[in-house]
Amino acid sequence: MNFDFVIVGAGFAGCVLAERIANLLNKRVLIIERRNHIGGNCFDFYDENGILVHKYGPHIFHTNNKNVWDYLSQFTNWHFYFHKVLAVVEGRKVPLPFNLNSIDLLFPEHLAIKFAEKLVNKYGYGLKIPILKLKEENDDDLKFLSEYVYSNVFLGYTTKQWELNPNELDYSVTSRVPILIGRDDRYFQDTFQGIPRQGYTHLFQNLLNNKNISVLLNTDYKSIINDLKYEKLIFTGEIDYYFDFEFGQLPYRSLEFEFRSIKQPNFQETAQINYPNNYDFTRITEFKHFLPYNSEFTTIALEYPAKYERTKNEPYYPIPKKENDELYQKYWQLAQKLKGKVYFVGRLAEYKYYNMDQVVASALMLFNQIASE
Ligand code: FAD
Ligand code: UDP
Repeated sequence: MNFDFVIVGAGFAGCVLAERIANLLNKRVLIIERRNHIGGNCFDFYDENGILVHKYGPHIFHTNNKNVWDYLSQFTNWHFYFHKVLAVVEGRKVPLPFNLNSIDLLFPEHLAIKFAEKLVNKYGYGLKIPILKLKEENDDDLKFLSEYVYSNVFLGYTTKQWELNPNELDYSVTSRVPILIGRDDRYFQDTFQGIPRQGYTHLFQNLLNNKNISVLLNTDYKSIINDLKYEKLIFTGEIDYYFDFEFGQLPYRSLEFEFRSIKQPNFQETAQINYPNNYDFTRITEFKHFLPYNSEFTTIALEYPAKYERTKNEPYYPIPKKENDELYQKYWQLAQKLKGKVYFVGRLAEYKYYNMDQVVASALMLFNQIASE
């Protein structure tokens, strides 16, 4: 069969492009997906207790990009949800991102008041400061506080998650969860936040609901690509794999999830609780918090970081650090030579620690480019 476009990968990058190309350009698209389902890492499914479970870890949609929010809102209704995360520090559950409420819960009143006053005077109420920035403080009290937060919230978690020290990673990694000089206990402060009311997989089904789009599951594109006739290829998998590891393998980090179904209405106070200093897992997610349910059961997932081993597990995270970015740049140079024929987009192909909204934005931008060629 002939196709105008072949798209490798049925995650957000691949499915958004398929939708745009099929609906707006009226072209024929084939999506080839290695896994046995669409949705990429956002895939969710109802488990035996009727609870919608995120197979690859907790996914909360959040964005300040109104275009992205409006675009996706054509394919889903939203359950308006603000994500709350607690971190277990010295046996107490405190709000994360670490904020003035966390300070109140962990320190004697006179110290908490002093820390809060100093932070507000120095930075201003409502400001966010990355931990590695706060650690540069000279003031004795703020130095003490920053060391405390660094060792109790960031060091253990980051070491488990990446097998690296926070300062061995790009500054942007720990900056994702800055210290908040305020009392907003939400994990994200974005204008638009929510969970697709009927789940992510349903959203993806809606994206792909077009007779111009065919989907082939359980297939690595390399096993079939030479037998296909098509004009252009959009690739959303690992860029080093596309180029047969010409410059060596790009490092990724993987995870293992242990799902447990428990016969009790609730397991924990919030959807996500982080354990920076205890156990081998980093966090426990309780899916029941994401959408309303009436069930005697609840489902949780313990998340264990793992080394990435090609063909054995999934490359969930690119590892943002200088030498990895330099290696990626070499692949990107090769990609430039294929301009107009092969396009690379998404978290794996761009080797960027993208959130969902950033992937959707990147896919929409690529679509504009393709449409104008
Ligand atoms: P993917 O979803 O990885 O899709 C790529 C697809 O391509 C995959 O399905 C893969 O199987 C397929 N593929 C790859 N190679 C081949 C091949 N050779 N042949 C055929 N198919 C192939 N973002 C948020 O905004 N909020 C969150 O709360 C959030 N939580 C997250 C939690 C975890 C644990 C993880 C790992 C990520 C989280 N993200 C979150 C990020 C989000 O998952 C990604 O931004 C998004 O899924 C990336 O979409 P994508 O299409 O680029 O990649
Ligand atoms: N982080 C940490 N302690 C926490 C939460 C996050 O040290 O309790 C650091 C850690 O390095 C982590 C990074 O901040 O990898 C980004 O956290 P985020 O919650 O954004 O991770 P994701 O949900 O993408 O896995």
